[in-house]
Amino acid sequence: MIVIFAIDALEYNLVEEFNCKNLKQKYYGKTDISEFSQPRTMVLWSSFMTGKNKEDDVLEDGNKEMWNKKWDIKETFFSFFENPVVLDLPGFSYDLGFHGKSRILLKNFFETKNLEKKENLKKEYNKDAFDHHRKIKDKFFKALGEDRDFVLGYFSVADVIGHLNFGNKVIMKMIYIELDEMAEKIKKNKRVKSLIILSDHGMKAIGRFGDHSEYGFWSTNFKDLKTPKITEFYELIRGIKNES
Ligand SMILES: [Zn+2]
Repeated sequence: MIVIFAIDALEYNLVEEFNCKNLKQKYYGKTDISEFSQPRTMVLWSSFMTGKNKEDDVLEDGNKEMWNKKWDIKETFFSFFENPVVLDLPGFSYDLGFHGKSRILLKNFFETKNLEKKENLKKEYNKDAFDHHRKIKDKFFKALGEDRDFVLGYFSVADVIGHLNFGNKVIMKMIYIELDEMAEKIKKNKRVKSLIILSDHGMKAIGRFGDHSEYGFWSTNFKDLKTPKITEFYELIRGIKNES
């Protein structure tokens, strides 16, 4: 089974700082996303799954509409597989309800001047993120126990929580430890042959908040990829699929 543990906004520097050995696997590094004008989540995951720079296509209807974009499986490397599972990935199987609510809460948080309201919005925002994380995590580990040739789980908690809490090292460390423990559990699963851990972009501090940084994180248990472009995974996965 080929597995992709897709983590939004997993930051290379924090993986190093918290020494997340399981996330680092045998080989790890940064991705090169310099071909894109900005590190946009929807653009990056779309380009990843199709193997093509999809920036213009994703942005053609404007920033607001981009989240509704959905790629046909035939355009993606998921079509190489017989019984793939792809959980919650932007542009493919994304939960628009949950992620839409998150974005509205975030917007309201920054717009409201009332401190008590701000605090309540942040609590609701953080709680929703963790609840959603647990839901996808359950589905992911269930799929890893099934007879599948490909499983991808997409986890947004580091991004969602990071935007409002990046300056809070206690919260960020807790998330990185959770993700590292998930990586450990994936690796212990005997069905998992090739594991790729990938983020679309990282995160940098803007005061006590977080914004996207201009490179992503990758790791594998089988090959040193150096500084790959996010569009290069399409052919890489075709290659390891054909070897298996
Ligand atoms: Zn992202």
